[in-house]
Amino acid sequence: MLANEPILAIENLTVSFDGFKALNQLTFGMAAGELRVIIGPNGAGKTTFLDVITGKVQPQTGSVRFQGRDLRQRSEHAIARLGIGRKFQTPRVYLNLTVRENLDLACNPRKNVFATLFGRPSSGDKRHVVGLLETIGLEAKADLSANLLSHGEKQRLEIGMLVAQSPDLLLVDEPVAGLTDEETENVGALLLALAESHSIIVIEHDMEFVRQIARQVTVLHQGSVLCEGTMDEVQNDPRVIEVYLGSEQ
Ligand code: ADP
Ligand code: MG
Repeated sequence: MLANEPILAIENLTVSFDGFKALNQLTFGMAAGELRVIIGPNGAGKTTFLDVITGKVQPQTGSVRFQGRDLRQRSEHAIARLGIGRKFQTPRVYLNLTVRENLDLACNPRKNVFATLFGRPSSGDKRHVVGLLETIGLEAKADLSANLLSHGEKQRLEIGMLVAQSPDLLLVDEPVAGLTDEETENVGALLLALAESHSIIVIEHDMEFVRQIARQVTVLHQGSVLCEGTMDEVQNDPRVIEVYLGSEQ
């Protein structure tokens, strides 16, 4: 694949729920290696947008191409296998396993929990897990049970579990909702570090956080792209002030 080839090319996407258009002729493109932040008021269609990319929702019209491949009619599982990983808002980690065991399990999706607990990981797996622990900044907590982690640490662990599956594109929905300022900054630093080697879409409400990580921002409104640009450009766009920033004041 060429470096500047789009990783994602979406055209004229429409999703109707009982006649209501959650997405309306949405067109969106993103180059490989980009970190893109998507903002927009509640109900703008942000989560539905991710649902279409991951195959959870089938659009009525439009096309979604990932690395040149058409994703329509593919199952969620098949799309995940093509290299798209999704982080949901609430962490989905195994609370009774340690941080290390959670990562080991994520590295070996075919292994079951018992094999992870009682088997011996290969040296390659161990190195991979050590690298992930370092990336997510949880080396010191590797042998703690995940239920002892703070909410922010759980978010970072789940991001690590996602990265363990080596996706090319990471989709992250509101990763800092409910986090402290310090935890928000840690998650931001982690996403910036991952952006060195992954394409990432982050959906977020927290404007401070968006400012911390954003390069290119896409604003969704009523199921379509309202505008795109740097955070400064977007913030100063009168349409955005009206529909989004204005509505928060
Ligand atoms: P956002 O994530 O930007 O807040 P959503 O994508 O969740 O927005 O929702 C967009 C719109 O579509 C909302 O008005 C929501 O109520 C509606 N919607 C989303 N999912 C469904 C569904 N499964 N059935 C009916 N309406 C839905
Ligand atoms: Mg949402």
